[in-house]
Amino acid sequence: MDEMVVIADLGVCGGIDEYIVLSHCWGPLTDQDKKRFYTTSENYKARKLGFSYVELPKTFQDVVQVTRALQKQYLWIDALYIFAYADCTIAASSAHSWRDGFLKAQSNSLDTGVQSIPSTPTCTCDFNKDVDRGPLMKRAWVLQERVLSRQIIHFSVVHTYFECGDGVMCEQFITLKPSFGKQYFILDPNFPSRVNVAGFKRTANFIQFLFQEYSTFGLSFDTDRDVVIHSLVERMGQVLETQVRYGIFHCFLSIDFISNSKHSLMVLRSVDLGFADDGQALNVKVRQFGGICRMGKKGGKCVIVDGAKEVGSLWFDMADLIQLEDCNCVVISMPKGRKKEVSWKYHVLIIQKKVRDGEYKRVGVGKVEVQYVSSDGSTGMLW
Ligand SMILES: [Zn+2]
Repeated sequence: MDEMVVIADLGVCGGIDEYIVLSHCWGPLTDQDKKRFYTTSENYKARKLGFSYVELPKTFQDVVQVTRALQKQYLWIDALYIFAYADCTIAASSAHSWRDGFLKAQSNSLDTGVQSIPSTPTCTCDFNKDVDRGPLMKRAWVLQERVLSRQIIHFSVVHTYFECGDGVMCEQFITLKPSFGKQYFILDPNFPSRVNVAGFKRTANFIQFLFQEYSTFGLSFDTDRDVVIHSLVERMGQVLETQVRYGIFHCFLSIDFISNSKHSLMVLRSVDLGFADDGQALNVKVRQFGGICRMGKKGGKCVIVDGAKEVGSLWFDMADLIQLEDCNCVVISMPKGRKKEVSWKYHVLIIQKKVRDGEYKRVGVGKVEVQYVSSDGSTGMLW
């Protein structure tokens, strides 16, 4: 198939209301690849006139085929914040890179149009394994793409799935049983409106799940991590009609987002934290790490140790190269209900001084035994 593909200028076309979006892994790219595949100011004019389908990498060729099979005219590759408005997202779940493609050579599903529904619908497919644990879902951007998409067709190695607000159906027309819970929020075609009707605990659970997922996902650039979570969190803040700053939801100040979900979610509201009126900063009580503790490593995890004893855990937002003595902390919450014990832990934001006195930035989160955090502190501004 040597056909022409053209770049459409949305500014000129205007009002495009039906288009397909590709969700995919970039894979490792050489400088030559970038020169060949990127649309830049140098080749933009030429591409608007059209370029050959065969020039495209395999994954892009495949999605052009799918777009045509769905009889859509426009396809969007790689632009964030657009997913919520696209008609349908094509998830190249099986492709590790642009070169791989995702349509099976023997697949004839595109040629046959609508397949007939089998008389005895049974299937042994595994959505969880094929999609949730496939190569595409290892990318942090993709979770966002998935959460914000209205409809998605997942092309996995062995099976194809259709996901929409009502659930997931596989290529054998079997409606898969939804794992009710976190999935319920991800499937929301108007994400995150369901957080408003789901109740406090389920919403808190979901937010915790999102943060946990993001912290384990791969990103090409670590600085993307903030950006990726930011737009989802902002949307949730709008729907919950609350402010969100530095990972803190104003209405959920009493919730622990970093503890293991098996443990109690509810914690006391910290008196160390307030939302400043300027719309940006948090007014905080700045405390010191006390005692004779230092930072150590345990199985790739950052821990706080006193001698051989582990007294806390740390999770840095960007890099693990920060020294404990360069950090302060803000207590955001503490366990609820239990009797005060020696191993009682504060949940803290780890912060670092900015250039100006009294101004701090967030560098991570942690859990530290109470006696290793100073009881008094100075006032500061976190932003
Ligand atoms: Zn199936």
